[in-house]
Amino acid sequence: MSAQPEGVTVITIDHVSKAFGAVRALDDVSMTIRENEFFALLGPSGCGKTTLLRCLAGFESVTSGRLLLDGRDLADTRPYDRPVNMMFQSYALFPHMNVWDNVAYGIRAEGRPKEEIRSRVDDVLNTVGLGALGDRRPNQLSGGQRQRVALARAIVKRPRVLLLDEPLAALDRKLRQEMQLELKRLQHEVGITFIVVTHDQEEALTLADRVAVMHAGRALQIGTPVELYDHPVNHFVAAFIGKMNFLRGLVQAGGLAVEPYGLVRTPATDLAVGTEAYLAIRPEGAQLLRPDETPGSDAVALPAVVEAVAFVGAQIHTHVRVEGSDSPFVVTSTRRDWLPTLGEHLRVTWLVDAARILVG
Ligand code: ATP
Repeated sequence: MSAQPEGVTVITIDHVSKAFGAVRALDDVSMTIRENEFFALLGPSGCGKTTLLRCLAGFESVTSGRLLLDGRDLADTRPYDRPVNMMFQSYALFPHMNVWDNVAYGIRAEGRPKEEIRSRVDDVLNTVGLGALGDRRPNQLSGGQRQRVALARAIVKRPRVLLLDEPLAALDRKLRQEMQLELKRLQHEVGITFIVVTHDQEEALTLADRVAVMHAGRALQIGTPVELYDHPVNHFVAAFIGKMNFLRGLVQAGGLAVEPYGLVRTPATDLAVGTEAYLAIRPEGAQLLRPDETPGSDAVALPAVVEAVAFVGAQIHTHVRVEGSDSPFVVTSTRRDWLPTLGEHLRVTWLVDAARILVG
């Protein structure tokens, strides 16, 4: 169940495919996006997220399927007639105009009365915290300020939906984190549906009410950040959202056969016996056991050798080598009474029910 209240649907993406010659950039994508929602399209480079955004903006046409806005098919509506605005990665500010004129440009072109333009531009500049910088040229602004101007320019037209293509990519890491919270606050304040494209899972989880995880032109899973983290539908989503440990094996009655241990107990699965699958466990779902400690009867315990220990203040991340795992198995703990040492032979343990069986 989604924690989000069901809202009014603004955008319906209905079995949309888009081909560029032999490349299937979008492959039967369906999803709905709600009024006032902050929605993220998340996936690695080439997964089709920008293509989907461009189809919504009207810069590309779909090969098959339908895009609806407020229930109306967008197929015959030209880009500039859509109640949709797009904020580009490059911001595309006019260098010879000051901030105020950059923001006013779009609504001036609509021929709005002078007074209305003045109050709308002043309002929106105050909303993004640039009320005092209206006279500056873009080259007299910091990266974060330019980003705010671009946002102001996009929202002053009061679109029904704002599309943002990697909106924070040009900013350095610290500013990016600040602007994530700022963008979220702003979206809440202006009450416009935002659809953001990003390849950064942390950014998507921070910003969005719901996220669509995309891969190879398909939407693999759509859900709240908590749903995606706690209930990933397959190996790709589990590996893409946060850190996940995996053990490879074959489904058996009661568990997964993992070399060299034999049967490792898992929660029940609908997968057929013999299916290749992964046991997936989050770093904070596992613990380390010293040789003198005994696992609970409802837990799995496997031998492990410590390869690295990272103390990062509130948490300790211990990387251990576990047979059956292709990469270091990470255990995150807040335990302060004991720091594992390099090369130490321990056991890694987790509750049977804390793991998931995933394919894909
Ligand atoms: P990135 O994060 O790198 O921008 P993306 O997930 O946004 O990636 P898209 O730009 O949507 O991916 O591209 C999806 C696929 O479609 C890619 O294989 C890309 O090469 C291809 N593609 C996109 N636009 C075109 C085009 N105009 N002509 C041909 N192929 C294209």
